[in-house]
Amino acid sequence: SKESGRGAFHFFEADMNRRLRQRKTLEADLRTALSEGQFHLAYQPQIDLCSGALVGAEALIRWQHPTRGEVRPDEFIPIAEQTGQICQIGEWVLRTACAQAVAWPGLARMSVNVSPTQFRQAGFLEVVEAILAETGLAPRRLELEVTESLLLVDTEVTFATLTRLRGRGVSIAMDDFGTGYSSLGYLRRFPFDRIKIDRSFVRGLGSDPEAAAIVNAVIGMSHSLRIGVNAEGVETAAQAKLLRAVGCEEVQGYLYGRPLAPEAFSKAYLADTDA
Ligand code: C2E
Ligand code: CA
Ligand code: CA
Ligand code: CA
Repeated sequence: SKESGRGAFHFFEADMNRRLRQRKTLEADLRTALSEGQFHLAYQPQIDLCSGALVGAEALIRWQHPTRGEVRPDEFIPIAEQTGQICQIGEWVLRTACAQAVAWPGLARMSVNVSPTQFRQAGFLEVVEAILAETGLAPRRLELEVTESLLLVDTEVTFATLTRLRGRGVSIAMDDFGTGYSSLGYLRRFPFDRIKIDRSFVRGLGSDPEAAAIVNAVIGMSHSLRIGVNAEGVETAAQAKLLRAVGCEEVQGYLYGRPLAPEAFSKAYLADTDA
């Protein structure tokens, strides 16, 4: 009826206002989170599928909010992107992860997520170089994970920065592969070091023939282009078996390990000499 329709509208409006207020509060809280030391990093192991050896770690940001508890990055990274705060936060992530990698000589590679706004900021290359110099991390041990959305605008400038980073020895991975746009064209134009197959495809392995076909095709393509491949979100032994069968070399997921605080990570995966 007309009455209940209006009621639903008011409810919708109230809900929208509440969400908007929540967002505004988060946005304000985000402004002090860095200086208040509310961020920390968790590290998830990246594993060689054949040998089971640790090949790297992905640094993942965590926000311990004073009243709300842990806020998920999926919730606050998009806000930080829109407000531009991602540049400062991202710089902190990069510095912290690089310093951690130096403290862990037994870790071959540290992977750090870089959001498009952060990557496109003027002087991003200089920021990376300064952090490498300051921490003393060998560029070969650093991998930056970027998403396809980075390649939608300003591609010439972006390609130039990617190329210069690679020239310095930093490797570049394309994250969440398959979820964005016209991925194949970009792979031909820019030599990525690694493709990370999004976990939405890995989830379907064993049940969804189309997901299996896509994973198979991406791995075949990465082999012919001589690009490394990492399958994300591996949760079951059955998924791992199927990935092994199609020649996937590297995996990441709860089956191998969840993101851990630094102490727990080093205890679980590194020798005693790595603090
Ligand atoms: P991502 O880069 O694709 O990171 C992988 C996400 O998948 C992480 O979520 C990780 O905890 C989760 N994950 C790993 N293995 C499994 C699994 O087996 N099953 C399932 N269901 N999930 C798994 P997290 O840490 O919540 O991060 C979410 C997203 O937030 C990241 O997705 C990334 O886009 C962004 N993010 C996280 N840290 C940073 C950062 O330091 N900078 C930037 N710019 N973005 C970040
Ligand atoms: Ca990532
Ligand atoms: Ca990903
Ligand atoms: Ca993602």
